[in-house]
Amino acid sequence: MLRGALLSVSANPAIKRFATTAPGISELVTQFAAGETTHDAIGVTNELVSQGFQVTLDHLGEDTTDVDTAITIRDAYVELLQRLGRAQLASQAEVSVKLSAVGQALPDDGPQVATDNAQRICEVARDVGTTVTLDMEDHTTTDLTLSTLAQLRQDFPDTGAVLQAYLHRTESDCRDLGRAGSRVRLCKGAYNEPESVAYQRRGEVDLSYVRCLKVLLEGEGYPMIATHDSRLIAVAEALCARYGRESDDHEFQMLYGVRRREQRRLAAIGQRVRVYVPYGSEWYGYLVRRMAERPANLMLGVRAMLGRG
Ligand SMILES: Cc1cc2nc3c(=O)[nH]c(=O)nc-3n(C[C@H](O)[C@H](O)[C@H](O)COP(=O)(O)OP(=O)(O)OC[C@H]3O[C@@H](n4cnc5c(N)ncnc54)[C@H](O)[C@@H]3O)c2cc1C
Repeated sequence: MLRGALLSVSANPAIKRFATTAPGISELVTQFAAGETTHDAIGVTNELVSQGFQVTLDHLGEDTTDVDTAITIRDAYVELLQRLGRAQLASQAEVSVKLSAVGQALPDDGPQVATDNAQRICEVARDVGTTVTLDMEDHTTTDLTLSTLAQLRQDFPDTGAVLQAYLHRTESDCRDLGRAGSRVRLCKGAYNEPESVAYQRRGEVDLSYVRCLKVLLEGEGYPMIATHDSRLIAVAEALCARYGRESDDHEFQMLYGVRRREQRRLAAIGQRVRVYVPYGSEWYGYLVRRMAERPANLMLGVRAMLGRG
């Protein structure tokens, strides 16, 4: 309930203004994001890769309302990918893209604008030797995002999908997407969704996660197991063994700054671990979702806003 309330209240422009200008907020942001510039993103990527992790980079931004911003974000990804290539990091680092950041919600031809921009990002990713994963946003965009995914996969079959276990539809989507070569990230889901489309109770979401994971692991695709939940990680490790999964045919994923010790533990036992690293100045929506996931983070946020961080 607290999570839903925080996600709703955070959309208020006055609250956003207050939060983004609060004195102690930048220290909190640096716990969860690499920094504001491409240079910062490359620096953190270098560091993680040298520690044996793989990386997916998210140029922060969402719900873009004009074409120029969509193009600016697309170009930021292009620049990032070219720099990853030059720094010899492309084999270890890919990018995660929110279609709403590159224009999906623009009036009239938004989905086409987003698809065209994503196409350009995929081209550059392929040229430098890496991949793109399409983040999943709220449920009103699921069909549009899967349709863009299908279009992109015609030319770039390694484009990754994200499915959210809290949605009722996801087990069926896992069946559709769990085919050979299909990279699918399974997460719980981070948005405030109504009862009509999503499980509301934590236990129901966790059970759905396990059902979806079984479908993906039984299938022929490449599951990307995105969770920090110790119980689900233990279940995933057991299921990988049961379905004969090898260390190179699936991976674990976690967010930058969250459960670092667990990230190291998994890497040390030979699991492939990819860290999701956000960077950029538009960190508000991302940070709110991280605070909504965990009351302790919310307290950190409140203290930062009151200047007691
Ligand atoms: C790599 C990756 C990519 C993602 N991409 C998407 C996406 O495209 N779309 C989407 O809707 N969601 C995405 N998510 C977010 C996801 O849906 C969940 O909201 C988030 O991962 C929290 O769920 P959990 O599985 O970690 O379990 P939870 O039950 O929320 O957490 C389990 C435990 O992990 C720790 N933990 C979890 N979150 C935090 C945090 N923020 N700070 C500190 N500790 C924490 C706590 O110890 C907690 O008890 C992504 C998550 C990851 C890891």
